[in-house]
Amino acid sequence: MSSAGERQILCRKDGKPMFFVAESEKMSNGSRRTIYYYRCPVCGYRIEVEQVYISVEKDSIIVRRLIRAPPQSS
Ligand SMILES: [Zn+2]
Repeated sequence: MSSAGERQILCRKDGKPMFFVAESEKMSNGSRRTIYYYRCPVCGYRIEVEQVYISVEKDSIIVRRLIRAPPQSS
């Protein structure tokens, strides 16, 4: 009965539980960027967690990840 991975992140401004959001967009050069973040449904405050860039060059797929420090749960 572990709830690992369901750690609740609370908004720094109003203390409401934040949603985890994954947002993907396609860039003009054909690469793709996905941003993972927590967003507060009340005030819109967001905490970015990770960005992933995927690009294709010839026969290779290149993945670059940019990981931020995990948000603090208070
Ligand atoms: Zn908030």
